[in-house]
Amino acid sequence: MDCLFCKIIAGEIPSKKVYEDEEIYAFYDINPQAPTHILVIPKKHIASMAEVTEENIGAVAHLMQKIPLIAREAKLDGGFRIVSNAGDDACQSVHHLHFHILGGKKLSEQMA
Ligand code: AMP
Ligand code: ZN
Repeated sequence: MDCLFCKIIAGEIPSKKVYEDEEIYAFYDINPQAPTHILVIPKKHIASMAEVTEENIGAVAHLMQKIPLIAREAKLDGGFRIVSNAGDDACQSVHHLHFHILGGKKLSEQMA
């Protein structure tokens, strides 16, 4: 499959790893929009939050459970924001489910 994030998981495209286990991979965004900008992805390809089902929710739940650990290790003690763009209206550019973790400064009150 021609998927950028599947290639990152396979190590075919380099990335700066933050966290990894059997089910998920976290790495720094190449074009950071905050002082700390991490992407967390399931290793199994899911196109977006619009494609989450009873069958694949396990990996998504596991990912969610690990976000506090990833945020703590990234020293985001002041707080952080989680964003997941799904589909064209949200300007999703990579069609492999990912959660942006943004922090390291006081973020904008504006979300859209
Ligand atoms: P989205 O627009 O929500 O689909 O987010 C895709 C994100 O992937 C953007 O923030 C990009 O900067 C990021 N991105 C694209 N290519 C890479 C890459 N090779 N390594 C790390 N992050 C990437
Ligand atoms: Zn993929």
